[in-house]
Amino acid sequence: MASESSKSLEMKEKFFTDGGIHPTCANKGCDNKVIVRDWLYHSFKHYCSDCNNRMKKGIEPRPGVEFHKKNYCENKDGRLGFECPVALDFMWENGELHSDHIDGDHYNNDPSNLQTLCSICHSRKGHTSGDFNSSKKGRRVGK
Ligand SMILES: [Zn+2]
Ligand SMILES: [Zn+2]
Repeated sequence: MASESSKSLEMKEKFFTDGGIHPTCANKGCDNKVIVRDWLYHSFKHYCSDCNNRMKKGIEPRPGVEFHKKNYCENKDGRLGFECPVALDFMWENGELHSDHIDGDHYNNDPSNLQTLCSICHSRKGHTSGDFNSSKKGRRVGK
């Protein structure tokens, strides 16, 4: 797999030489760099590893940091043009609520560009807008 990892390194260098900026964590008050999902596709997660671990384990954020993610699906108000089929007080398992980039720009981690969607609404939005499965297509690949 040596060739694959060197390709990955090459893409990492290309990202920065193209003027790319490593996005910072989407949580309020946290300016750590986000986790890189895959340099090959310039694919990033929304949160830094510290926040990510805490959220996964259900631990409080560091002092001064506020988790952006809601514990319910924000499409309860029908913002996507259809209404979330799941009850508002449903207790979602970890990982079933997703952070979605409202404008589809995966580099824009501004809190105003993020909303929490359940897996059902997220996949439905993705199928309509083509914004699903960001890991498969980095927008800068091929340029
Ligand atoms: Zn963070
Ligand atoms: Zn939903």
